[in-house]
Amino acid sequence: MFESLSDRLQAVFQKLGGKGKLTEEDVREAMKQVRIALLEADVNLKVVREFVARVTEKAVGEEVTKSLTPAQQVIKIVHQELIDLLGQANVPLAEARPGPTIIMLIGLQGSGKTTTAAKLALWLRKKGKRPLLVAADIYRPAAITQLESLGRQLGIPVHSEGAQSRPPDIARNAVRRARDESITHVIIDTAGRLQIDEPLMVELEQINAAVEPVERLLVVDAMIGQEAVRVAEEFNRRVGLTGIIFTKIDGDARGGAALSVRAVTGVPIKFLGSGEKVEASTIEPFHPDRLASRILGMGDVLSLIERAEAIYDEEQARKMQKKLVKGSFDFEDFLASMQQMRKLGPLQQILGMIPGLDKLAREEIITEKDLKKIEAIIFSMTKEERRNPDLIKGRRKERIARGSGTQVQEVTQLVNQFRQMQRMMKRMGGKGGIDPRELMRR
Ligand code: GDP
Repeated sequence: MFESLSDRLQAVFQKLGGKGKLTEEDVREAMKQVRIALLEADVNLKVVREFVARVTEKAVGEEVTKSLTPAQQVIKIVHQELIDLLGQANVPLAEARPGPTIIMLIGLQGSGKTTTAAKLALWLRKKGKRPLLVAADIYRPAAITQLESLGRQLGIPVHSEGAQSRPPDIARNAVRRARDESITHVIIDTAGRLQIDEPLMVELEQINAAVEPVERLLVVDAMIGQEAVRVAEEFNRRVGLTGIIFTKIDGDARGGAALSVRAVTGVPIKFLGSGEKVEASTIEPFHPDRLASRILGMGDVLSLIERAEAIYDEEQARKMQKKLVKGSFDFEDFLASMQQMRKLGPLQQILGMIPGLDKLAREEIITEKDLKKIEAIIFSMTKEERRNPDLIKGRRKERIARGSGTQVQEVTQLVNQFRQMQRMMKRMGGKGGIDPRELMRR
């Protein structure tokens, strides 16, 4: 999401940057381009108008045209205005005191509600909370079994009464159970419909009245574009939304909905979801400043660190560190670390979060395919070879290349690079070792 908007805006600013001093005319021309870029990204027309007017007003002011770095000043203004548009600061999940905190998830069918319920539960558990999932989508039997099976997989309790009970009763019983079992967060997966309809609204109002959730979060598929804004307005009018979760931001949605929804409805975006997999790293709290930076190509290292912390496995990291120091880090460990890294998200998305590397990602200089190739080569090695890369010569190399569908020289290259890395790690490890988390905190 946002790639094409990001490309366009960066092109506008690059052109400005080449000009040195800026005239009012330069700024106005750039703003015309910004306007087109936003409209093409499917941002709400009224929002675009106001946005461009605000930026122009500030940018044609004296500070910019008289400043030593005029283009930088314009970027700074656009950055700040984007942040304001997106809601200024992160709005965290509300906590009910006394607990449990009741969260009702609302959304159209297929928006990713059930998946998001599970992701959110996992995210909360990572934070040391005790979530309970509640299957209140009784009209789609598959939703109940989907939630039950996700709960089993993740080891998170699911309250389900099948399709016989009424949703408000299910919610009430779930909250009672939560109190008995010292659950901290109750996440209610409500029914979705193909479109907003009266019975759906009435049912949400009934659940609302029965358990008074402090969070009423709308789950919206980012791919539906401006329709998302309309859906949000409608649900907000009936049940008073406390937040929005955009899903499928890994898709090629243009992002306009995410940029408009706060300005139009006043409801804050609280989380972004990406990927079909239910993992703690596929849902992340929404930070306006970070997204604004990402859009303007300044990277988003903070979110990357949060994702890394979400998948960070202390035990495994300690084991790895020991091996590094001893110089016994082998291809097995390499593969394990690589797979751990992959949990951060698709490679291109990760690169896009690192300042300066977003171009690398977009121009596909390093791709998912390269990583797959490396994995394939390692998979084609025997356990012995992985533990002792020195064995990988002549015949063995040919066999590995054949097995992985690669060229012998690609195998050689990987083995050589690996040896080089081993040597380097050993040297670094010798000096007291490195804790990857320490490195990240700096
Ligand atoms: P519900 O009908 O709203 O409960 O939606 P589901 O949770 O069943 O999700 C509908 C489909 O969207 C499923 O195929 C999910 O795997 C998929 N999905 C959910 N969230 C995401 C996401 O963030 N990214 C992608 N690519 N797919 C998602």
